[in-house]
Amino acid sequence: MDKGMTPSDELVDCEKRHLNYLRISITDRCNLRCLYCVPEGRIPKLAHDQVLSYEEILRLVKIGIRLGIRKVRITGGEPLVRKGVVELLGRLTRIRELEDVSLTTNGVLLASNAQRIFDAGIRRINISLDSLDRKKYSQITGYDHFDQVWTGIQRARDIGFGPIKINVVAMRGINDDEIVNFGRLSIDHPFHIRFIEYMPIGNSRTHSRDQTLTPEIQEKIATIGDLSPVENSNHDGPARRYRISGAQGEIGFISALSHHFCSHCNRLRLTADGKLRACLLSDHHEPLKEMLRNGGSDEQLAEIFHAAVRQKAAKHQFRPNGVTNVKAQMQGIGG
Ligand code: SAM
Repeated sequence: MDKGMTPSDELVDCEKRHLNYLRISITDRCNLRCLYCVPEGRIPKLAHDQVLSYEEILRLVKIGIRLGIRKVRITGGEPLVRKGVVELLGRLTRIRELEDVSLTTNGVLLASNAQRIFDAGIRRINISLDSLDRKKYSQITGYDHFDQVWTGIQRARDIGFGPIKINVVAMRGINDDEIVNFGRLSIDHPFHIRFIEYMPIGNSRTHSRDQTLTPEIQEKIATIGDLSPVENSNHDGPARRYRISGAQGEIGFISALSHHFCSHCNRLRLTADGKLRACLLSDHHEPLKEMLRNGGSDEQLAEIFHAAVRQKAAKHQFRPNGVTNVKAQMQGIGG
């Protein structure tokens, strides 16, 4: 790190939000084609040399740490399809200044990798699973991998990951009939089921009208038991947490549209091709890769972090059931 960086270099935006959480998409490739994430037809893939190497990612993380980053999440595409990801996770968990390193995965490759991921020091894991019905799972994701994912989730639980969060994007006419079943899953298992409102960004095969918003989901869950609020911890982010009485697990709601949480947003996102985004729901980004590969100093790269932070809007402009003009695909950003 160049000399001269001070605590005053911390990433604080015009709303006085301290940005200390970096979500890193390590690949744009995925082994599923979820309806709400991937468009019709072929999507162009990044060429190998457009994707940041692990060394480049680690250098950016270290610069981020000097600017106040304390929490990192590895995502994709599907992070477990990239070779060497477990070693990357181990290198990240060994960085003393990082208070939390976590992983988001679709779980398809989890069963065979769970022990190594645990041994690499990861404890907090988010697994995306939008249906508990094998046939419907195939319809949503394009692949008959439900059993693999379910085995992966059970293996993760047996190995001792915790919390295990299960991300569900609820969509009308697609899986909204399973909301109650997902709620019941939190009673019988120590899983945190998190309902995420569908965000209409990029091209996908779903529409804003398919959104099932938190109030409706909450009403359905309330039919199986009383929901008591659970206090948020440091690592919770925007989810509002509840527990059904007597349940082993929890229910969370991530309501980016019906109840936006921009005022608490502490996130920056690094895409697989080295773009830094300050808001999931804005296409604005700052390119890091070119500076990184053309001999840029740590200080110059840090300045790009600051440029991204300066662009962070006070709040996103999207409203429930509205359309967005965000062109980037979720798959390329990492959620
Ligand atoms: N492949 C990994 C996975 O499936 O978890 C990581 C990448 S995926 C893009 C990250 C998260 O974004 C997943 O939980 C997925 O359900 C969510 N996601 C994708 N598209 C979305 C959308 N349009 N609205 C809301 N969430 C979305």
